[in-house]
Amino acid sequence: MTNLSTYRLARLTKDPRFDGLFYLGVKTTGIYCRPICPATPLEKNVEYFTTAHQAIKAGYRPCLRCHPDSAPGVSVTKIKHQDIFNKAANMMQEENFEAHTIQKIAENIGISSRHLRNIFVEETGISPKTYALLQQTLFAKKLLHQTTLPITEVAYASGFNSIRRFNDYFKKLMGMCPSKVRKINKRNNGCIDLKLHYRPPYDWEFMRLSFDKEKIDNMEWILENKYGRTFTQDGTRGGFTAEIDKKNNCFKVTIELERISLLRKIVYKIRRILDVDTDIESVKSCLNHYSKRPEKIFKLTEYPRIPGKWSVYEAGICAIIEQSKDDMNAQKNILAFVHNLGFKSENGHQYFPTPCQVQENAEQLKKIGIVGALLDEIMMFTQTNIEMIESEVLKHINNLTPRIISMIKIYALGEPNEYLGEEQFDQNSRRTQNEKYSPYRSYHYLQTRIQNIDLDPQQLINDTSRQNTTQA
Ligand SMILES: [Zn+2]
Repeated sequence: MTNLSTYRLARLTKDPRFDGLFYLGVKTTGIYCRPICPATPLEKNVEYFTTAHQAIKAGYRPCLRCHPDSAPGVSVTKIKHQDIFNKAANMMQEENFEAHTIQKIAENIGISSRHLRNIFVEETGISPKTYALLQQTLFAKKLLHQTTLPITEVAYASGFNSIRRFNDYFKKLMGMCPSKVRKINKRNNGCIDLKLHYRPPYDWEFMRLSFDKEKIDNMEWILENKYGRTFTQDGTRGGFTAEIDKKNNCFKVTIELERISLLRKIVYKIRRILDVDTDIESVKSCLNHYSKRPEKIFKLTEYPRIPGKWSVYEAGICAIIEQSKDDMNAQKNILAFVHNLGFKSENGHQYFPTPCQVQENAEQLKKIGIVGALLDEIMMFTQTNIEMIESEVLKHINNLTPRIISMIKIYALGEPNEYLGEEQFDQNSRRTQNEKYSPYRSYHYLQTRIQNIDLDPQQLINDTSRQNTTQA
């Protein structure tokens, strides 16, 4: 292994920048750890793994001091079947495993389940079924460790529909009983408290300002160290608040929700909104030459993270409205859209309008100035969102521009390598941009977008070509 000395140094110095990028198995104890674990075994007793499932496959149990399931995740960018693998892994995060799950995922991607299986075995050494169940089991372990939920609820929250199946898989994959991980914590008024770790550095100020720029009052709240919002998920309402804990490289997240079986999906969405799983050092070195540009309106960061939207639907609506208006009117229209059509609770919390609320209130939309082609586009998009489940919506849309589709992929699906397949970029600069910022083109776009508050396409082309000349 070429990274051996890096891994060794990282674990001996307990460098949090490597948290989640590799794991170490301790041969003498049979447990596996994060690089930041307080335990420091001798090098001769250690073997390294790039993923947790590799360690588990090799027979290691998770450490109960550093809890490997609490490490930040990582989006896979350097493997052969990157696109298919990431799509399938993301769908597994949002769907609970059932007999037909793998078949459904394969169909959704447009390949055979046999092909999907081959890809998983090649990339991870385990089948897609085992991979899916392992993700659910690791999530369950995190809940057992961090929350006070009863074991039955932990099972449902992690996507298992029977306690017996949950116990069986947990014992098989974690090498211990669920009750062994159980810890008694204080209850918190029915809310669920969790920690979501990230790999430092996390430029919170940049993220906070980015959220603030497009904030929807009463639906989102932004404080010095906190971001929170309401959400609607599968017909239920909830909300979360995330407070950054810079000292421990994590967010303390409090979640309010109505249905416990949605917890795993909701946590996955929060991770994406805060972009905690990105390999930020790789993003930095990829965008390096870009960040050397002189600063303009918005202070650029070397460590940009993407402030996510709740869903494909929400990101789509915002992108559609944004495309049809200039920046200032777009934000005004989005606010009017949410405040006039969305549900408002007694305590003043505002919720993003559901597709059904939009369909029933076309007249209301006209009153706030959403008319003509924009109205038609919104109506068609919401209709698709009523008919399809979220992961299928993009496949059934044919009237949206490539720009809107890219915005959805960046802000709702967290795809790191999207670019705006847009008419306004000329063919040459688009190509240059593609090569230069891959596999993190989405982050490059974010820098561009935030810096050029009123995106002037000509200016962008000039900037790109000027930059190319300077570097040549
Ligand atoms: Zn450990």
